[in-house]
Amino acid sequence: MIKSLHKRKSELANTSKQLEILSNGIFANGELPKFKDKIEEPLRPKALEILQINLGYMCNQACAHCHVDAGPDRKEIMTKETMQLCLEVIKKTSAHTLDFTGGAPEMNPNFRWFVEQASRAGITDFIVRSNLTIILANKKYYDLPEFFKKHNIHVISSMPHWTRGKTDKQRGDGVFDKSIKALQELNAVGYGIPNSPLKLDLVFNPSGAFLPANQNALEKDFKKALLEDFNIHFNNLFAITNLPISRFLDYLIASENYEDYMHALVEAYNPSTLSNLMCTNTISVSWDGWLYDCDFNQMLNLKLAGKVKHIKEFNEELLQNRNIVISQHCYGCTAGAGSSCQGSVT
Ligand code: SF4
Ligand code: SF4
Repeated sequence: MIKSLHKRKSELANTSKQLEILSNGIFANGELPKFKDKIEEPLRPKALEILQINLGYMCNQACAHCHVDAGPDRKEIMTKETMQLCLEVIKKTSAHTLDFTGGAPEMNPNFRWFVEQASRAGITDFIVRSNLTIILANKKYYDLPEFFKKHNIHVISSMPHWTRGKTDKQRGDGVFDKSIKALQELNAVGYGIPNSPLKLDLVFNPSGAFLPANQNALEKDFKKALLEDFNIHFNNLFAITNLPISRFLDYLIASENYEDYMHALVEAYNPSTLSNLMCTNTISVSWDGWLYDCDFNQMLNLKLAGKVKHIKEFNEELLQNRNIVISQHCYGCTAGAGSSCQGSVT
């Protein structure tokens, strides 16, 4: 299993270093335009719909391209006190959806308590970004499918390919077989089955320095292969673009693909994606309660612009008046059909 950038003491574990790379070189010498010069106006939020809450960077996997730099060697997790602060916000915000992410959000010892409290506070729309293998990682997680079902949690899971070789190359040896078993267990309780209200979506991201293929075509291929080979059903496939941050940035630099990849993203810039970017209807909350425009900005430590910086200062009116913080990584969300945590945006 690979180690996180933090554990390796890589210079990219420092987010300032990542931002420096994204601002200098081809973006400083005029070879490529900066993102702020490409968009005609500052990005502004629409009505807040989703609170995406990062429950911690701890994960049972250590995927090659993880934008969180998560892994078993990361120990940062959200405390119950910070969850309490989030619950206070949940009671008054107009956001209707809680989207739990990580790391592996289920590894937070208070994950189930938090879901139950949020449910009591009136939330009915939950999403969990589950890596699937966590369900088999320890007997304390074996009943997660039943727990998800009890709270009608929408499960969204990464699955880079329908073949063992390509999946294990990106996510680690043995991940494919465990993911297949976990998907079968989710199907067994009703997830992803036609006409079932229990939603199971998969996320595809490319295995190298290229943009994802057409989402609809990929979904057809995934559905056919997973049904024929393993009798697995799921609802939708989301194709996402790898953003040039964290371990994917490390890979781009090590493989000498960084400049070509940034050229490809800039050339594929599509202004029609701007109105549906996830930063326009989401606030991202980090494990320690800081607020960001999106999960990617969180990983670059680009905190919200304006006075409201932390969950304890949450003020929706003030938040609506901010400009969204951008840098060159934003080209990853606006290339081609666009990319968000829910796949293409056009
Ligand atoms: S499962 Fe997700 S959070 Fe965990 S290492 Fe892989 S990409 Fe990162
Ligand atoms: S990375 Fe994407 S979602 Fe985040 S601020 Fe940039 S465009 Fe918006």
